Amino acid sequence: MRIVVLAGGIGGARFLRGLKAAAPDTDITVIGNTGDDIHLFGLKVCPDLDTVMYTLGGGINEEQGWGRTEESFHVKEELAAYGVGPDWFGLGDRDFATHIVRTQMLGAGYPLSAVTEALCARWKPGVRLLPMSDDRVETHVAVTLPSQDTAGGTDGEADGAGERKAIHFQEYWVRLRASVPAHAIVPVGADQAKPAPGVLEAIGEADVILFPPSNPVVSIGTILAVPGIREAIADAGVPVVGLSPIVGDAPVRGMADKVLAAVGVEATAAAVAQHYGSGLLDGWLVDTVDADTVARVEAAGIRCRAVPLMMTDVQAAAAMAREALALAEEVRA
Ligand code: GDP
Ligand code: CA
Repeated sequence: MRIVVLAGGIGGARFLRGLKAAAPDTDITVIGNTGDDIHLFGLKVCPDLDTVMYTLGGGINEEQGWGRTEESFHVKEELAAYGVGPDWFGLGDRDFATHIVRTQMLGAGYPLSAVTEALCARWKPGVRLLPMSDDRVETHVAVTLPSQDTAGGTDGEADGAGERKAIHFQEYWVRLRASVPAHAIVPVGADQAKPAPGVLEAIGEADVILFPPSNPVVSIGTILAVPGIREAIADAGVPVVGLSPIVGDAPVRGMADKVLAAVGVEATAAAVAQHYGSGLLDGWLVDTVDADTVARVEAAGIRCRAVPLMMTDVQAAAAMAREALALAEEVRA
């Protein structure tokens, strides 16, 4: 069986680890989000691809969910001693090596898909990991920043009005912790991007397509914004099943509710399913605490089941993967 999974970072990676345990003999292709990518210190950093690669390859910092095990931060400290920032993005010494190798290969002319394959030759994630695109896509967030000055300031704006600005997703998410109002989420460059080599082919050859509990806006939404990918999934003619990242009307971790609000979607399991829509999704899993929303999702034309959706360990994630594959067979029949 061939399975295609669209994935962001932590939620996607933990689900994939469960899927591998639940379906060890399947052929899994992961289409990873690259909208979170950022250039730091002259290096190309791909947080979501690396989270998937490290998690499946056994190099992840388990507690944190991102970054390397047994990490140290000497390079970051030395950069800070030179007054060179930003200091808000956590890059450890071991992690730096990944970004150096990636940047060096990109500089030599290799596309990101080839670089990712080369990095995976070390980590052996047990899946085929493809970036959604080899073209540069960077998610930006339109926000209102609080006025820099205090009352009586001279920025020419009314007190408390703040400044409207588009900032890089990582600045919004990591530096500001989504603490300022977001008005729009824009995957800059997506409309001109082409799916990476192998992406459309994998979708076309898939037996099942899964949306793990990844962020529906800035992870899966960004992948779907690359022209051709959404259409290929909708036209694939195979079951498409998703798992809700929202449990009990709140994100399990992170601030997905903030970016959902920015695109006008309420932070509930049912609203996220309707946001994807029955044109894309055939099946949707919600957590047992959201069992009362199953009828609403089914009324929207999407087959829905309530099962435990907390990835407390690999076994729990594997059970979720089995439920997703079972629901896929149910909609196929
Ligand atoms: P990111 O790129 O690191 O933010 O990772 P993803 O986009 O893949 O996943 C983030 C989403 O995963 C968040 O919206 C969380 O609510 C969701 N998530 C994380 N852990 C769990 C879990 O155990 N169960 C469920 N259902 N969702 C989870
Ligand atoms: Ca991410």
